[in-house]
Amino acid sequence: MNGLYIHVPFCTKICGYCDFATVACSPRLFREYVDLLLCEAKERLKDHGDFVKNLQTVYFGGGTPTALPIEEFTRLVQGLEALGVHLKEMREVDLECNPDSSTDEILENAYSLGVNRFSLGIQTFDDALLQMIGRKGSAAQSREALSRILNFTRKKNLHATADLMFWLPGQTLERFEQDVSELAESGIGHVSFYGLSLHPHTVLGNRAEKGEISLDEDLYPEMYRSGVRILQEHGIERYEVSNFARPGEESLHNRNYWKRGEYLGLGPSAHGFIRDKRMAAPSRYLAWKHWVESGAKESGMEVDCLGKKERVEEKIWLSLRTREGLDLQLLEQEEFTIIPNEKIQRWIQKGYLQKNGTQISLCGDGWIWMDSIVEDFLP
Ligand code: SF4
Repeated sequence: MNGLYIHVPFCTKICGYCDFATVACSPRLFREYVDLLLCEAKERLKDHGDFVKNLQTVYFGGGTPTALPIEEFTRLVQGLEALGVHLKEMREVDLECNPDSSTDEILENAYSLGVNRFSLGIQTFDDALLQMIGRKGSAAQSREALSRILNFTRKKNLHATADLMFWLPGQTLERFEQDVSELAESGIGHVSFYGLSLHPHTVLGNRAEKGEISLDEDLYPEMYRSGVRILQEHGIERYEVSNFARPGEESLHNRNYWKRGEYLGLGPSAHGFIRDKRMAAPSRYLAWKHWVESGAKESGMEVDCLGKKERVEEKIWLSLRTREGLDLQLLEQEEFTIIPNEKIQRWIQKGYLQKNGTQISLCGDGWIWMDSIVEDFLP
């Protein structure tokens, strides 16, 4: 199965923790971006002739895809259709939405073009925390957008997911539990939650460096465990370290990443993975623009051809993120790589890993200490 990721880089406000390649909204840039993206799509799809035949998912992420005016989003989709990417034939077409730009009109238009899954970035229902992390909008707006998206997706039999963040400066365990409970009680089919990362050169990263904010190490595992428990109590099960779904609501597009399926990325900073080659487009908008204008050739991308070592690392790393875990027999057959049994037994004894036949998967606090387990297993 193949997936297509389309990066829409526009944001009306830069969040305090964000280190993505983003661009301020401007009507001139919207038009230019769609023209450039379609040029890039033409070139990239030409380079990978069979790609569209096996394409099953399309994901519009960002940035803020819903910041694009309806007419430009429509033009983008129509341009993709002309290149053989027919959204209505896909198994899953996702659209990331921000609370302040998820109007009925945008949802209706996206649905009419083939979008069948809406992903809402909530982060927290607490106004003070939203302000602290520099998010635009309010908790009331998030609640309104959530209920609008849920009503819409239920009426049309579509899918919906929402994101939360935890381990925010000043966030208590109780506050995060309230966020998770509120989202789970809404009846939503899929939830993702992520602990805050403090990246250098972001507003929050700089504040942490100056000692103005700090994160309590002990709170991270407590919040993660509580979040998982609350979702489970509502029938929303973990199927990846940060992703939780009711049965049948798992993200097909993301599953493809974890299974090392092939995908192409379009737009500034978008990544692709084809035939054991990882590719990334220039991340700054202007550099991306110049690259597209000069033909969007693969030679102008950052390309990484994976050798055996990198392949093995990825297989261990990506498989262990998921509920199914890693098939040791397959790893041996495909890569002639064996993880020493003593290492596996050590983690099993700690209660962090379980083994079922030839399959190993995380359990208990293994989900929290995944990085250490993976590192221990790397050849
Ligand atoms: S909305 Fe998303 S992409 Fe835009 S600034 Fe905030 S975190 Fe970054």
